Amino acid sequence: MRDFRHLLFFPGLLFASVLFPPGMAASPPPGDRPAPSSSATVIKGALILDGTGSPGRRSNVRIEGDLIVQVGKAAPAPGDAVVDGAGLALAPGFIDTHSHGDDQIFEHGDALAATSQGITTLVVGQDGGSYSPLARFFRRLERRPTAVNVASYAGHGTIRERVMGDDFRRHATPEEVERMKRLLGREMRAGAIGLSSGLEYDPGIYAAPEEVIELAKVAASHGGRYISHIRSEDRSFWKAIDEIIAIGREAKLPVQISHTKLAMRNLWGQADRLIARLDRARARGVNITGDMYPYLYWESTLTVLFPERNFEDRATAALVLEEIATPGGLLMTQFDPEPSYAGKTLAEIARVRRSDPVTTLIDMIRMSEAMRKETGRGAESVIGTSMQEPDVERLLAWRWMNFCTDGYLEGPHPRGFGSFPRILGRYARGRKVMTIEEAVRKASALAAANMGITDRGLIKAGQRADLVLFNPGTILDRATPADPHATSTGVHKVWVNGVLVFADQKATDERPGRVLRRSGSSDGA
Ligand SMILES: [Zn+2]
Repeated sequence: MRDFRHLLFFPGLLFASVLFPPGMAASPPPGDRPAPSSSATVIKGALILDGTGSPGRRSNVRIEGDLIVQVGKAAPAPGDAVVDGAGLALAPGFIDTHSHGDDQIFEHGDALAATSQGITTLVVGQDGGSYSPLARFFRRLERRPTAVNVASYAGHGTIRERVMGDDFRRHATPEEVERMKRLLGREMRAGAIGLSSGLEYDPGIYAAPEEVIELAKVAASHGGRYISHIRSEDRSFWKAIDEIIAIGREAKLPVQISHTKLAMRNLWGQADRLIARLDRARARGVNITGDMYPYLYWESTLTVLFPERNFEDRATAALVLEEIATPGGLLMTQFDPEPSYAGKTLAEIARVRRSDPVTTLIDMIRMSEAMRKETGRGAESVIGTSMQEPDVERLLAWRWMNFCTDGYLEGPHPRGFGSFPRILGRYARGRKVMTIEEAVRKASALAAANMGITDRGLIKAGQRADLVLFNPGTILDRATPADPHATSTGVHKVWVNGVLVFADQKATDERPGRVLRRSGSSDGA
């Protein structure tokens, strides 16, 4: 949730440079380069988990160019490159439907955080923030391709900022909404897959529901969809769920809840109630789906904990520390006004300051906001533990829930490197929350369907050759808050558009990733 700090609303400078130094995951030296892929590759004898959820079967998969051309028993032909898949499983490349990879994609073209967990497509432009204009971002990506495919939403917050500037703490006028609609139309024609919003963040939080519906109708008219960091993940959660259902009903387009979670003590244990409400909406014709990452803790700002932006209010601060995250459960990962606080919990910082947690929280926001006003960029980041394991398990298993990381290519939360192996290893294999076939379906075919991507997500002749070869008996995340960039174990090889991008626990030097424009967009394929 709550990961908007990377978006600074300066026209023309939407993605300010990031807070984490570049330089991890260096490319292998030229001598280690894999041989150029031959015209055909056969992956032999792997357990094929084809993305449909049906039981795996051992078979061979033949790739020619960027396509899967055959699935079956046919033996490799002379001259084919052969990859031995014995003892391993082969799945469609995973699709991360809520990625913040756009922030650092040009610094980390190997996208190791993604490829090392089997992800072959990033869906970016999330939480209401996107590159603007998208056409320029897409052209830049095509000039400097990366290892993975990239699709993007158009961000409501970005568009709103373009139109309203600093004067965003109010409803938009009808004229302003018209200008937003025109800007969104331009982004949709450039190939955006839909509209994203971050209604818990500035400036989206100030938008009237009608404004969002009007814009969602524009996305719908282009065959697009809507995805949202909903207006509340805690105090006004049920109202926020009703709002996204209403958007789907009124604007008549598919809607998806971003990083679904029950992030407040008094919401715990209500996963079944949420699922029932979503299923009821589906039964009434609203195509509502969700994505989520498999952790009990989120990462965001401190300010997002104050939806009324009443940062000096002791009662609100006390409620936050009682109901949403305890002082021991708020771990600062960055605090520019006092860098020594990074790595400490709010409880520890309160002790250092010889103060109480409520006062400390209020003081820290005051310091951080002062710095943000001065520098124009977010000055703090926090990991907050707010969720409960039984809810996470129930929600992961919901039939319409696909998976995401909500992560950066280099960020402080381990989800950026660990989400998909954690689901496969910890939740499917270990806790048996779902079968491995079902986990793969949700990571691939369901994710593709939820994003409107039609030529990826299945192992089937004619699909693009995005593939992950992994060991279902050992795949597991290793990243932790203390070591968030540890790569997972059990992922053997990853192909994007038929080209190997990850092997031997390392990124290759290949950059076969493509821009995935919404099909039917005027610039798109
Ligand atoms: Zn979010």
